[in-house]
Amino acid sequence: MTPENMYPVKSAVKTKSYLKGMEAYQEMYERSIKDPEGFWLEAAKNLDWFKFPEKAGQGDFKRVNHSWFMGGKLNVTYNCLDRHLAKRGNKSALIWAKDEPGQYQNITYQEVYENVCRLTNLLEAQGVKKGDRVCIYLPMIPELVYSVLACARLGAVHSVVFGGFSADSLKGRIIDAECKIVITANEGLRGGKKVPLKNITDDAIKDIDFVKTVLVVNRTSAQVNMVEGRDYNYEEEIKKYRPVAPCATVDAEDPLFILYTSGSTGKPKGVMHTSGGYLTYAAFTHRYIFDYHEDDVYFCTADVGWVTGHSYVVYGPLANGATSVLFESIPSYPDAGRYWQVIQDLKATIFYTAPTALRSLAQSGDEIVKKYDRSSLRILGTVGEPINPEIWKWYHDVVGESRCDIVDTWWQTETGGILITPIPGVTPTKPGSATLPFFGVQPLIVKPENGEEVKGNGVEGALCIKSSWPGQARTIYKDHARFVETYFTQYPGLYFTGDGCRRDEDGYYWITGRIDDVLNVSGHRLGTAEVESALMEHPEIAEAAVVGYPHDIKGVGIHAYVILYEHKESTKELVESIKDVVREKIGRFAAPDIIHITKGLPKTRSGKVMRRILRKIASHEYGGLGDTSTLSEPGVVDNLVEEHKKLK
Ligand code: ATP
Ligand code: MG
Repeated sequence: MTPENMYPVKSAVKTKSYLKGMEAYQEMYERSIKDPEGFWLEAAKNLDWFKFPEKAGQGDFKRVNHSWFMGGKLNVTYNCLDRHLAKRGNKSALIWAKDEPGQYQNITYQEVYENVCRLTNLLEAQGVKKGDRVCIYLPMIPELVYSVLACARLGAVHSVVFGGFSADSLKGRIIDAECKIVITANEGLRGGKKVPLKNITDDAIKDIDFVKTVLVVNRTSAQVNMVEGRDYNYEEEIKKYRPVAPCATVDAEDPLFILYTSGSTGKPKGVMHTSGGYLTYAAFTHRYIFDYHEDDVYFCTADVGWVTGHSYVVYGPLANGATSVLFESIPSYPDAGRYWQVIQDLKATIFYTAPTALRSLAQSGDEIVKKYDRSSLRILGTVGEPINPEIWKWYHDVVGESRCDIVDTWWQTETGGILITPIPGVTPTKPGSATLPFFGVQPLIVKPENGEEVKGNGVEGALCIKSSWPGQARTIYKDHARFVETYFTQYPGLYFTGDGCRRDEDGYYWITGRIDDVLNVSGHRLGTAEVESALMEHPEIAEAAVVGYPHDIKGVGIHAYVILYEHKESTKELVESIKDVVREKIGRFAAPDIIHITKGLPKTRSGKVMRRILRKIASHEYGGLGDTSTLSEPGVVDNLVEEHKKLK
């Protein structure tokens, strides 16, 4: 793609944007790289510090001891609530979009503050101290946000576990983080279905002797088993405490939370983030990347169980005094119009979601989108996986009525905030590319074989980052050796992201998939995302996942798993027509050897395809599929194995 056919920024977004054009971006970017010290100290002024830091960044990737804003003292919750009360006390901090369609609850900054203070006092009375870990296993209800902020107010470390996880997964995370207290609900509600959170919690902690307290929010009217002296009803207890509470002063480098990665590639890692740098970065990126302004209604669909929910439902937006939508339901309940209905009802101006949701919604056609008024929207974001250009265009043309700027944001649990992204109103976009680095971020592409940097444009390799940014994770909880080993040993002196990447002729970045998934077919290196995007252009394909398997002649053969819009038997013509799109879009060498038509793919609970499992199946290694605890529907694996045995 040449600059002439990039998607230009939309004029309505441009008028509002903080930056006036690409020159302004370039200039600010250069300043952030030449003088990171000055740049980030300036950015840190967006927070209220009890003691302003003397230094910005310290440490390096050789010793893996990077730190930010040392000497600075603050409280994260103070920054998300207290400091807004005078000006925004009556502004909605949260709009809770309940599971039941059309039901909303606005919660002002003053109300969130009072709820958080009561809970802070309650947790303190239960013996929670600065540095203690608190497990939060809740659905997307306001108490989830209160819990997170009450921990931060006390200087305690939260570990939020997504409400879709099983007892075993919950147990593993409680043990790993050594949580003495669990905050949960009697039941969760998701898409009209009840999730027995308290029962699951009971199961998870039955053999753990260090969990002393379980706080139970009643989301439904269901009665649940309560253990005397251990389990407390949240509503009853909270009333006993005053709606004001002091906040702890923490060091910039004190831990804020532990969060486990989604487990797409293996056993989840307990990624640890600290306070001052993380919040500075979450707030700063939220403001620039979503072009956030005071009157925006900001709707990020992520669950707070994932990092996107931490940084871009809670911390970034609230630090900026925004109105953030807390979405309890699922995109398909009661039908595929749900997101669009929320946008219409709340007049959302910024919308941020994941490609996996967009792919499934696009399957329901355009009519259901058009049924709802989306004229309030200005900016559309995506995160989590490479977005196929087909779906990007659908998002742009249909959802955004060709009026909204799209921000395809690349980042990771470990990065704390967005690293590669367009700036709305500023960066011309290309469907499928996360475009350019954010301020202070220096991406580097290296040759996977030897770690040599590949300079210039029109290159491809493993994506690394050259130096630290404030939102970066500091360690893996209790396992710094694994942190060093996973991210800093392959290419000494660099942070290795694990992702493959191409920098095109215009210097734009394209994430090609996980580097471990790169296909080396007859000596050609191919990213899984590239082949999948080509497959998605076939009119009958709704979803595709591609992996390599040992092939006698080519070295690696390509096995493509595809889901069709309407289920059909595999015929020779269909298979050929599928291979043809890839031949046409990429080249003959990239045509899949096997087209495996199926109905379901193994996914993590955040909706990402687990290619690691698909690779095993394609290689006939049906046993030893590794850690499958984060799979959302374990049954699909058996089904794929059966289908695979039948393929010749
Ligand atoms: P695990 O590390 O346990 O395997 P995970 O990597 O899926 O799990 P996350 O931190 O939630 O856990 O996801 C980060 C990854 O998601 C990135 O490394 C990248 O592969 C992918 N990703 C996120 N955003 C984008 C994007 N905009 N474009 C392409 N890929 C993306
Ligand atoms: Mg990862």
